[in-house]
Amino acid sequence: APGRPPSPRARAAEWGIATASVDDFPEVALFEERLASITAGGAEFPYFRVHEGTIRDTTVIGDRSYLSFGSYNYLGISGHPAVNEAVHRAVERYGTSVSASRALSGERELTIRLERALAGFLGVGDCLTLVSGHATNVTAIGHLVGAEDLVLHDALAHDSILQGCALSGAARRPFAHNDSGDLEHLLRINRSRFRRVLVVVEGAYSMDGDLVDLPAVIELKKRYGALLMVDEAHSIGTVGEHGRGVGEFFGVDRSDVDLWMGTLSKSFASCGGYLGGSARMVRWLRHTLPGFVYSVGLTPANAAAALAATELIAAEPHRVRALRRNAELFLGLAAAAGLPTGSSADTPIVPVVLGDSARTLRVADRLFARGVVADPIFHPAVEEGLSRLRFFLTSEHREDDVRRAVAVLAEEVAAAARL
Ligand code: PMP
Repeated sequence: APGRPPSPRARAAEWGIATASVDDFPEVALFEERLASITAGGAEFPYFRVHEGTIRDTTVIGDRSYLSFGSYNYLGISGHPAVNEAVHRAVERYGTSVSASRALSGERELTIRLERALAGFLGVGDCLTLVSGHATNVTAIGHLVGAEDLVLHDALAHDSILQGCALSGAARRPFAHNDSGDLEHLLRINRSRFRRVLVVVEGAYSMDGDLVDLPAVIELKKRYGALLMVDEAHSIGTVGEHGRGVGEFFGVDRSDVDLWMGTLSKSFASCGGYLGGSARMVRWLRHTLPGFVYSVGLTPANAAAALAATELIAAEPHRVRALRRNAELFLGLAAAAGLPTGSSADTPIVPVVLGDSARTLRVADRLFARGVVADPIFHPAVEEGLSRLRFFLTSEHREDDVRRAVAVLAEEVAAAARL
């Protein structure tokens, strides 16, 4: 109509440019096609399901209770009465937000106690907490290295590590998964060409369920004068005699790792990330790390939950033992049933690599119909052709439930292979 400005689409056509509406992005259309293809075979959509309560060894979806292998509540601490009680007290005292960066809005004793407790648990000089595990990696890597530097990371590195590299502007090279020979090669040919080289590994790899060979990586980082960052998202609380992670598992000197990173969202039953290391380094980060200085501090509720969880893990080591027992039982039964569990070992993560996405989805769907929840994982989270189901054990699973789950899984994998 006369007098009305042209629509963004008409304007874009007139100027011969792409439309400025996200709705019209080709990647949005592509995403919608992928989404539709997931359920095209009649399977139920396996993501974003609504759960009715705390997910531990079981979960309620709709009006049915399922055996769950789909949460990182490894030690069953999310939902623990002592943790809930600590959160109630924190909210009563401090409210629901710290309302600004801690540099401006000031500290709460609770957060200071949490960071001390985490530093003690990790065996490092000091520790800093941030509101997201993902954001912790992004800002830490973005801050530590820049355009004159190189990051060498495991080929299976988590997205947050890759995002941190992109932000930093540093060069980046992946080394073959858990292959210290390949890491050695990359260090040898690149070390002298860069100001700093940062090696980033994960304590436990969440897609494959295997541990880093930390002593080998430490030997290399020392030999080549590189920095080392270990992401313990899945290994803290779960690995080592007392759940203190791969540092404890391998008995390494904690100061041989420059930066111990982890999340509060898994074993620690909260939400957030941490960075631990020398007191001098942490003091510098506290005053300069952009994702810390320019972002709000942990909520009192999240700080209280993580503090109570840290204390509970230290006071009740039987949780870590029960988790290890369940993980070993599941992995042993799965291997005995001939299921393809890849390189999984010494972690509570057991993948069953089925290869084909349609088959993986079908098995996940059949398991769900029989009361077992396990996440199907496809490309791009894993390589094309390596689709898998992932099972996360918890300390809360009962032996007969683990046996039943593996039996049902073996039946359904065999049935899917016959189709
Ligand atoms: N690092 C790794 C290795 C992870 O697996 C994850 C999340 N699964 C994160 C970082 C991010 O942690 P969060 O979910 O607590 O933000």
